[in-house]
Amino acid sequence: MKPRFEIWDTHIHLFTRSIVESWRKKRAAQDPKVQEAAQRNHDRHMTKANNLQWEFPEDGDDAAKRWLAELDRAGVARGAFMAPFAESAQLRTMLSHSDRFIGLSWMNPTVPDAPQILERERAAGLVGVKCYPVSEGYLLSDKRAYPFYEAASRLGMFVLIHYGVTVGYNANLAFANPLDLHPVARDFPDVNFVIAHFGAGYMRECLMLAYQQENVHFDTSGSNNWLRTQPTKMTLKNVFERFLEGAGAERILYGSDSTNFPRGYRVNVLEEQLNILEELDISDAERALILGGNLKRLMSNNQPVGDSVTPETTRSVFG
Ligand SMILES: [Zn+2]
Repeated sequence: MKPRFEIWDTHIHLFTRSIVESWRKKRAAQDPKVQEAAQRNHDRHMTKANNLQWEFPEDGDDAAKRWLAELDRAGVARGAFMAPFAESAQLRTMLSHSDRFIGLSWMNPTVPDAPQILERERAAGLVGVKCYPVSEGYLLSDKRAYPFYEAASRLGMFVLIHYGVTVGYNANLAFANPLDLHPVARDFPDVNFVIAHFGAGYMRECLMLAYQQENVHFDTSGSNNWLRTQPTKMTLKNVFERFLEGAGAERILYGSDSTNFPRGYRVNVLEEQLNILEELDISDAERALILGGNLKRLMSNNQPVGDSVTPETTRSVFG
């Protein structure tokens, strides 16, 4: 594909063989119930994986080469990748292969050493961090997470959050409502927050948050099949229209939610969204923001601590 915009993807999952294995182990270590669920999920996942003939690349060269080829195939300039836990050696190795890979951490912000972990992730070149409260069972508004936001602010890292419905085996929708983010976004106005998948069912709450807080953004990633959970029928184009009106093009970030092989890059997600963007009554400048400019801006907050930020350094580091 040769899209007419420079495309930066905000939301890609890195699942190598060893990441899948260690993710299961880390989560199984939590408690017996989680362990049972982890095993059930593993079995289900592997059955599905065998049925779909999923392949997980090996760490290092294999993963990097395959993902670079996928970005080329889709016509995507750069992609933000996340492993499902912090301090992933696999992700760090991947980042060392090409500057087209952008790294996002993955953390529970309420753990006591969250600020120190985030500092190490930043030092390793990661620019943002994903939180998954609906599957990991915590509230972002928990005061124990405040030192983590202080660190995110100091380090210039953005926070990507999955609220709403999810395929996660351990999901608890009691932690799914993005309104939980309101006091956090209010108390940390210089941290940029990105809610994934347009809130995955919590569209109204997302639009309310957008109204209240300038620092809350939304990514467009995935199949957006949460539309089936809504009481009224609407299309993805309608969703774009509502968020353009309620949040503006400056706060919408394109993402694909690509995950595994052999599917690789979700070109169908990109094509569908490119078509919608062409149909919408917006300018090319606004399309360019959604497709890459906004991610570039969020990353440009991410200067080394103490360095002065100039347009020149921002350009040289982030193209
Ligand atoms: Zn995802």
